[in-house]
Amino acid sequence: MIDIQNYNNNNIFAKILRNEIPSKKVFENDDVYAFEDINPQAPVHVVIIPKKEFCSLNDFSSNASDETIIAMMRSIKKIADILELNNGYRIISNVGQVGGQEVPHFHIHILGGASLGRIISS
Ligand code: AMP
Repeated sequence: MIDIQNYNNNNIFAKILRNEIPSKKVFENDDVYAFEDINPQAPVHVVIIPKKEFCSLNDFSSNASDETIIAMMRSIKKIADILELNNGYRIISNVGQVGGQEVPHFHIHILGGASLGRIISS
């Protein structure tokens, strides 16, 4: 099981931030980096991450500065505009085992480009 209590510097998104592995950049500013998901679950699927180290949404919402939280939230609309998601989109943040979180660096998925159906498929 992944550890979302203690930040692991070797997680894949930390390596992307350090340019140790490649990524396809969509957007970047001082606080946020966004890149294409390697295994897209929709025609458009981008991952948005803070540049600072947070294990999960729990860690981020408890410990990030107001400025960092605002920067993350404001980036979503900017990225939706870049991706031309004019007909709408969905954001998801998986937390922990039940949420299905695989990478222990807080991230928001932004998905679109086709009708996404119900939140959870049955
Ligand atoms: P989660 O299950 O919410 O932790 O999502 C992790 C996401 O990271 C998955 O959608 C993966 O496809 C994606 N992912 C894993 N490795 C990479 C990578 N090297 N570049 C881009 N996306 C990745």
